[in-house]
Amino acid sequence: PVIARFAPSPTGFLHIGGARTALFNWLFAKNKGGKMLLRIEDTDRARSTEDAIAAILDGLQWLGLDWDGDPVFQFSRADRHRAVVDDLLAKKAAYYAYDTVEELEAMRANALAAGKPPRYDGGWRDRDPATAPPGIKPVVRLRVDNAGETVVDDAVQGTVTFPNADLDDLVLLRSDGSPTYMLAVVVDDHDMGVSDIIRGVDHLTNAARQIQIYNALGWHVPRMAHIPLIHGPDGAKLSKRHGALGVEAYREMGYMPVALRNYLVRLGWSHKDQEIFSTDEMVAAFGLDAVGRSAARFDYDKLENLNGHYMRATPDEELIAIFKTSLPYLPGGKDAQAKLDAGLWDAFRAALPAMKERAKTFIELLDNASFLLDARPLKLDEKASEALAASDTREKLKRLKTRLAALDTWSAESAEAEVRAFAEAEGAKLGQVAQPLRAALTGKMVSPPIFEVLAILGREESLARLEDQAA
Ligand code: GLU
Repeated sequence: PVIARFAPSPTGFLHIGGARTALFNWLFAKNKGGKMLLRIEDTDRARSTEDAIAAILDGLQWLGLDWDGDPVFQFSRADRHRAVVDDLLAKKAAYYAYDTVEELEAMRANALAAGKPPRYDGGWRDRDPATAPPGIKPVVRLRVDNAGETVVDDAVQGTVTFPNADLDDLVLLRSDGSPTYMLAVVVDDHDMGVSDIIRGVDHLTNAARQIQIYNALGWHVPRMAHIPLIHGPDGAKLSKRHGALGVEAYREMGYMPVALRNYLVRLGWSHKDQEIFSTDEMVAAFGLDAVGRSAARFDYDKLENLNGHYMRATPDEELIAIFKTSLPYLPGGKDAQAKLDAGLWDAFRAALPAMKERAKTFIELLDNASFLLDARPLKLDEKASEALAASDTREKLKRLKTRLAALDTWSAESAEAEVRAFAEAEGAKLGQVAQPLRAALTGKMVSPPIFEVLAILGREESLARLEDQAA
């Protein structure tokens, strides 16, 4: 059976690259009818706060990436990790090393001076611990064969060979008795029954070292796939200066989880020319053979366009439900939520078809809804002020208001008929009336169709807004 896993380190948020790794694991597992497990690598005690862990779980849930079983917390397994080290010591596959800080520093300095990567000289491999200087707390190192090579047979990177001479005797247990990351990952993946490791290519060198640990333990090495990193639009490794790194920021920027997911799956994976994938299509089409080796570039415009697509393509009721879950996270969203909850959802729903045509994100949707949410008297934007600047325009609006006030029934149709008749009577083009009307009713020059706006706002509110601007 396929057992994949996502193994994030809690650093305060779910990294966008981590989210993509999680997505690939999730799709891979679903495609194979397997499972995806979640392991929280919380051994860095300073950074692994409750909040940092919650942020990861929350980010995964928001993206709709579920996992099987309970999350495994790596730190809680430290005793098991130490027990494995005891086995390795008993088998003489590991040894205590009593090097002093000065000795290790000298090794590093010598290597650097020779232009070589720093590596441990294996000095304590065969030395008698009885000869250790007093007061030194030893580390435990893996005894690695210097000869030969370690081969990573990778589903994405192909066969990658590391000369063992380049891989020194890695530390398994620190002098304070804490297990290293390298050891913990191997023991946990083994104990969790992981069949496939899919993670960032920044872990490729670690993979070689981990394989050495597997071999020393006589354990079966899982299949591995090291996926390319995500780069910024300029080709440099994705960093803060490119934009948000945490998934939660994408919720705050008003992206739909389904759009972000669709965006992320295309970062490094392709399927013919297809850009839009339903979840089922993604699951059915996903495979590691179509994951490329070159880094994917983050393209914010593409994400925005995809999001716009999903906003238009999602049925209104469903879109509102998703919008509601994001609303508290949007700038000004809590405020807007209170106003909508106070009785404006029907109006919002009525305006949604027109509003979503002009929005690529929920932030833009909220902005398009400002004509509903903003209280009278409306603040006019610059263009709207210009449209209402001339005094005869304001006079005209006053006359229009009188005619609209006399309507028997108030609807988009009746309002349209009246506005058209009014324009004709005034010898004006429809736009010469409709544009100032729009400015007065919405404070902007872009809005849903103006007759719908009249209907949605209702008689009383529309007339009051006209009154505000007509004077
Ligand atoms: N915890 C590691 C990270 O967040 C991943 C380890 C792994 O996938 O093996 O980068």
